[in-house]
Amino acid sequence: ELADEEAKRAEAAKKALKEKDYAPAPPEWVLQPPINKGGLAEKFRTGKCLGKGGFAICYEGELRNKGRGAGKTIFALKIVKTYMSLKKMEDKFRTELQIHAKMRHPNIVEFHRAFTFKDSTYVVLELCSNGSIMDMVKKRRCLTLPEVRRLTVQLCGAIKYMHARNVIHRDLKMGNLFLDHDMNLKIGDFGLAAVLVSKHEYQGLYDQKSRRTTLCGTPNYIAPEILEKGRGGHDHKVDIWAIGVIMFAMLVGQPPFQAASQNEIYRKARGVEYDWPEKNKHFNDIPEEAKDLVARLLKVDAEERPDPDQVVGHPFFSMHGGDAMPMVMEEYFCREFP
Ligand code: ADP
Repeated sequence: ELADEEAKRAEAAKKALKEKDYAPAPPEWVLQPPINKGGLAEKFRTGKCLGKGGFAICYEGELRNKGRGAGKTIFALKIVKTYMSLKKMEDKFRTELQIHAKMRHPNIVEFHRAFTFKDSTYVVLELCSNGSIMDMVKKRRCLTLPEVRRLTVQLCGAIKYMHARNVIHRDLKMGNLFLDHDMNLKIGDFGLAAVLVSKHEYQGLYDQKSRRTTLCGTPNYIAPEILEKGRGGHDHKVDIWAIGVIMFAMLVGQPPFQAASQNEIYRKARGVEYDWPEKNKHFNDIPEEAKDLVARLLKVDAEERPDPDQVVGHPFFSMHGGDAMPMVMEEYFCREFP
């Protein structure tokens, strides 16, 4: 069992969603108003429920018109908790949606549109039909080395892309890493992302307390500098710390800094106190290369953490001939994005 803080929180959020009746049953059809005057409305037929979060419930949405999005007709239709006027929605989600809408990368969930219809607010996203890495690790207890390599390289590719555009995600965790039909990793949920103007300065950061008090940065993944200096005093290296936590969790089956209380988790993170089990949950050895890479990612001094290129250059990815890694590596190094 994944005795994981993140799982517990997801569970609590689900319960809250049930209890407070946040999510109205979706209408059979959802109409997206025309983008331009005189344009056509787009019609989505709602399908099965994909999952619930603290702020939203997600359904499959099949686009029934031709034209935009043709050929790729099933999306994830995210219904945000309550109805908001367009203005209010814009205020509340401005940063998240603005940042997310600008991201175009094969390993970032594609953002299509946000709109209001009847009494709800909808966000249309690329469908990730295989759930999150969190689900995968829960089901499988831990992942194999080739899986961890492939997913980590894809994660690094997306992070390299974001950081090159001065975007820091700040809430990377297994539950925010979705898997598409072909098991490609896709970063989702830009709720805590920020645009870095200069070191330690953010643009357009909304009041997080209003939205994320309960879920704000999952304790297990928070970098020590956030604990020391608060949310202002850190930069893109917090995402690199999170790669270390995610890698450890994929390899072992639970995050490195586990404890009964939040303060205890923070204390362990500050002291980088974690232990590798003798064997992972499939009774496989965890190779020294993996341990070395995680140790390099989990450095208290943010400056010492490697950048994404250095991460994928680590021997962990080339050991045993790299298990079918060449294609993933080629994608990582050769692709260029607008
Ligand atoms: P919140 O912002 O409230 O945490 P999430 O973004 O976690 O909401 O979405 C709620 C749930 O919907 C997720 O846990 C996941 O199961 C599902 N979900 C979200 N985005 C997608 C997507 N692009 N494809 C498939 N399922 C998704």
